[in-house]
Amino acid sequence: MPSEKSTQNALKGHKARITDTILRDSHQSLLATRMRTEDMLPAAKMLDRVGYWSLEVWGGATFDACLRFLKEDPWERLKTLRKAIPNTRLQMLLRGQNLVGYRHYSDDVVKKFVERAAKNGIDVFRIFDALNDLRNLEVAIRAAKETKAMVEATICYTTSPVHTHEGFVEKAKKLVNMGADTICVKDMAGLLTPWAAYDLVAKLKATIDVPIHIHSHGTSGLASMSYMKAIEAGAEIIDTAISSLSSGTSQPPTESLVAALRDTPYDTGLDLALLDEIADHFREVRKKYKQFESEHTAINTKILVSQIPGGMISNLANQLKEQNALDKMTDVLDEIPQVRKEMGYPPLVTPSSQVVGTQATLNVLMGERYKVITSETRSYFKNMYGSPPGEIDEKVRKLAIGDERPITCRPADLLEPELDKLTRELSSKTKSIDDILTYALFPVVALEFFEQREAGTLEPEPLEQTEKPEGELQSVRHLAPSEFNVTVHGESHNIKVAGAGHKVEGKRPFFIMVDDCLEEVVVESLTEVLPTTAGEIERSSVAESSRPKARKDGDVTTPIPGKVTSIKVTKGQSISDGDVVLTVEAMKMENEVHTPISGIVKRILVKIGDTVNPDETLIEVEAE
Ligand code: MN
Repeated sequence: MPSEKSTQNALKGHKARITDTILRDSHQSLLATRMRTEDMLPAAKMLDRVGYWSLEVWGGATFDACLRFLKEDPWERLKTLRKAIPNTRLQMLLRGQNLVGYRHYSDDVVKKFVERAAKNGIDVFRIFDALNDLRNLEVAIRAAKETKAMVEATICYTTSPVHTHEGFVEKAKKLVNMGADTICVKDMAGLLTPWAAYDLVAKLKATIDVPIHIHSHGTSGLASMSYMKAIEAGAEIIDTAISSLSSGTSQPPTESLVAALRDTPYDTGLDLALLDEIADHFREVRKKYKQFESEHTAINTKILVSQIPGGMISNLANQLKEQNALDKMTDVLDEIPQVRKEMGYPPLVTPSSQVVGTQATLNVLMGERYKVITSETRSYFKNMYGSPPGEIDEKVRKLAIGDERPITCRPADLLEPELDKLTRELSSKTKSIDDILTYALFPVVALEFFEQREAGTLEPEPLEQTEKPEGELQSVRHLAPSEFNVTVHGESHNIKVAGAGHKVEGKRPFFIMVDDCLEEVVVESLTEVLPTTAGEIERSSVAESSRPKARKDGDVTTPIPGKVTSIKVTKGQSISDGDVVLTVEAMKMENEVHTPISGIVKRILVKIGDTVNPDETLIEVEAE
């Protein structure tokens, strides 16, 4: 395989450069993004002396986690780190038009955010789009070019029947034409194998002139080997993490790579003794955040099948654990590739990882695929995230959006400018542009943050001092009565239990509000874990309704709470298993309700406009 060109490279050599992710991806992947600024600062001086190509310090999930859990102003963190680390490039991860949030923002917000990030200390913007839809990078790249910062345009690496190295190289070429100063191959799931890395980098080097930066995760155990081959093929920069917070779902250890490359033409020249001192600091820091460590952060080669990115698997595990459904983990991991195929093979990275992960989780927990479809899944099939890389499954698309036509334009073209409106909304609370941007990204969390800051009551989420006793009682206390937070890939949502469903085979579905909207529905069997809440919910939903509880096979129920918008059958009508009998509007979407059995419509217990809950019988069907 090594070509003549590679031999020349090996002989010629080039100093490999290192980006350390210790202050961003490393703790996002291992500690659910919980490291506080106070634990970073004692190492700042040492980090600044190392001579890294850059330090990744901001973006990704850190912005959200700062506000939501640590009650730190993310902009203040950036300014503080800039001051403490004056001599090293500071780098951030930017999700293209999604910035550091989970939806597309208007162009004026994107431009201002990039401008302020640069002003507050960012030197390198690593900009990516989950679907590699380059239209979603245009505005952020242009904005970053207008500052003095470097643009590291990024290709999300994945493997699928529709992804080829030639295709990635084509994208990279376009990105260079768009102004990229470096190209990053972002292997968020650790899928890149050594020889694939060699081939891809060699093809990139043969086509473009800018430095190649490789970002990988140790999830599958391949990353260090792939870095070696990538460097051999000409890659200039690699992402690593200080050893004490490295490996597994994090990056490969900095010190090991430095040692591996020493006395070769690629010698990084970094001081192992200094790195060792830094590792000692973060080894102690890691202990403080023990409660956020998941058993799913070690090497797991199953990832080579499921392709779940580094941070996502640990947080998915935490989420399922909180809901007492960790035994479903394997089923969810098996469902993910199927959903991904139906969605046209999106690379799994925020936010597509969240869309695919949540839908796959629902498909498993509901016991029936696409019985409940999230609003994110619907948006995805409308192309609101951009163009999927491959063909999508039209049958599933039809389930998700019916006859609606997907959009063909750049998604953000549909968004009106937001900044003036947001500035007016906040005018009585703050005039700071950084605050306004925080509010633009996370309105609910931001307002709470501003109020607490004003009142002087900002308190980080407490850290557990002692080991938790095992057992159900602890779970009850941990979950709180009917409201809790779940985190997926470092992204957190406030969850309230909104209703309880019909008990099937000893399992009762619970319907939940996410961030005050009934946007996603998660079903779980909490009865044993949360007897009080389950009882309360059951009583309240029964009290509100005069309709009988569903008990028999032919009792038609709604899978989610909502309003009846049409009734498709009449009394006495003969219908077949799976026929649509009525529609229920929920999550601003119309959902079809099907009859579970074939038979005759015996009774219709609803009329158009009725509010219905999952536990109730809406229509009775009697088998013939
Ligand atoms: Mn990563």
